[in-house]
Amino acid sequence: MLRRVVLAVIATIAAGPAFSQAYPSKPITMIVPFAAGGPTDLLARIIGERMGKELGQQFIIENVTGAAGTIAMAKLARAAPDGYTIGIGHVGTNVANAVIYTKLGFDLVNDLEPIARLPANPMLVVSSNNVPAKTLKELVEYLKANPDKVSGGTAGIGSGSHLGALAFNKATGATYQLVPYRGTGPAMQDLIGNQIQVMVDQSSNSLPQVQAGKIRAYAQTSAKRSPAMADIPTAAEAGYPMEIMIWNGLWAPKGTPKDIIDKLNAAAVAALSDPAVRKRMEELGQDLPTVEEMKPAAFAAFQKAELTRWKPILEAAGVKFE
Ligand code: ASP
Repeated sequence: MLRRVVLAVIATIAAGPAFSQAYPSKPITMIVPFAAGGPTDLLARIIGERMGKELGQQFIIENVTGAAGTIAMAKLARAAPDGYTIGIGHVGTNVANAVIYTKLGFDLVNDLEPIARLPANPMLVVSSNNVPAKTLKELVEYLKANPDKVSGGTAGIGSGSHLGALAFNKATGATYQLVPYRGTGPAMQDLIGNQIQVMVDQSSNSLPQVQAGKIRAYAQTSAKRSPAMADIPTAAEAGYPMEIMIWNGLWAPKGTPKDIIDKLNAAAVAALSDPAVRKRMEELGQDLPTVEEMKPAAFAAFQKAELTRWKPILEAAGVKFE
């Protein structure tokens, strides 16, 4: 009897690594919490394609939109922890939402396993070309003079663009009517068409439109001017100190085997070490994390520190979702 139990244990131990060694033997789904065509989706596609090459399997992008990413993260938390479903998220979906949405029925931090930290992106304060302001100061005056007329896009309460709107309000005292979208890709189309007038969103989404002359940029939210947009002043230079970076990351369902997490991490590191990927990231204004910062444990510690930093800010702003 004892012998049979011992053999069964040995068989289980042997099956574990053998199973993981074969990983991945089929395509991997990457859940994206926002609509196609936006900054999170763009990052997922660039990184996913390169990680897929590294692992010899295709990455399938699945956009699961709504409720500022909480629906996507619920789906990720409930997926099989086998490495075939992972998710991309950011400071909004995996930090701010953990403070704001307290009745999700799952734990945004403890039910997910960090895989790798991904690039961080400054935001741009932008408007449609119909807005008469030419400088950040003029934009603030315009918003204060037209409190009910100006609408701005967000990807929902707790999204990056909502955090951007909060930071903007804190720095300038100006506000705008928040219009929620399933992602800032669709919001950008409405900004270009002047259905909404302003937005604070990642440069990876807004910079290409600024460069094409389709929208106007007033300031970037980084401490220093990003080389990709050296002609746009920082918010501090434009008279309203405001610093906010939207950092991104990859997560798996809790319980995903460590050797699979490590393989995914190594693939993400390889993706961000690729000169072509680095060049594309830099063109979009993204700040790349170091290999050390990307490690799962370092990323988990970073996420915890960000939770400690954001909690009082969000509570003071009275942002709650019942
Ligand atoms: N970056 C957007 C946000 O959080 C959402 C998106 O990627 O579409 O505001």
